[in-house]
Amino acid sequence: MNKSQIIKESLKDAGEHYTKLHSASGLKCPEGCGKCCFNPNVFCRPSELLPLAQEFIRRGEAENMLEKVTHLLSQSSVDQTCILLNIQNSTEYKGSCSMYEFRPLLCRSFGVFLINDKEGNREFSLCREYKDLYAKEIVDLEKNISAFDDYPSVDKIAYAFYNGEGDLFYESEVQINQALKISLEKALFQDSFLKENT
Ligand code: SF4
Ligand code: SF4
Repeated sequence: MNKSQIIKESLKDAGEHYTKLHSASGLKCPEGCGKCCFNPNVFCRPSELLPLAQEFIRRGEAENMLEKVTHLLSQSSVDQTCILLNIQNSTEYKGSCSMYEFRPLLCRSFGVFLINDKEGNREFSLCREYKDLYAKEIVDLEKNISAFDDYPSVDKIAYAFYNGEGDLFYESEVQINQALKISLEKALFQDSFLKENT
């Protein structure tokens, strides 16, 4: 497997932990909500988006996407929503991910994850939207946290992912649009190198 395939598999494995936790929590995102993706502070390591960049190359869309994201980044460096978000209604924060299967690690945790507090006790970290929608269910969930002992916390999932075979530990996190630009440039360079040398 090449690095992109390893990262794709690692993202899938990490995502499965979150999917199981989300399902066991019983908390569901309201139809059409995409508020977490409107937050400009979505960060990831550029290599997390290598499988996505490869997919754009496969579809013949990589150069076009690189042009779009480069243009976006040249406009402003603050408050930039992820370029991959399909916005349906920005006032109501409605939208969906256009490349859901390829989203990075952070996006897979959106909604609910488990953290360890300073004393080492486990807690749920919940989306603010859930707090309004599921006040009663959340009280029950928190009382029943011991039922989630076998579910890994966010730091454990991240540690396994970043130190896994894809080895992203020493890469710095950057805003997602910046990460996409870096990833596309790298993937396109590798692609042209391989075409010239095979
Ligand atoms: S990659 Fe997808 S899930 Fe992540 S912030 Fe962008 S649109 Fe949202
Ligand atoms: S995690 Fe929260 S903000 Fe994101 S889609 Fe679900 S309910 Fe909306």
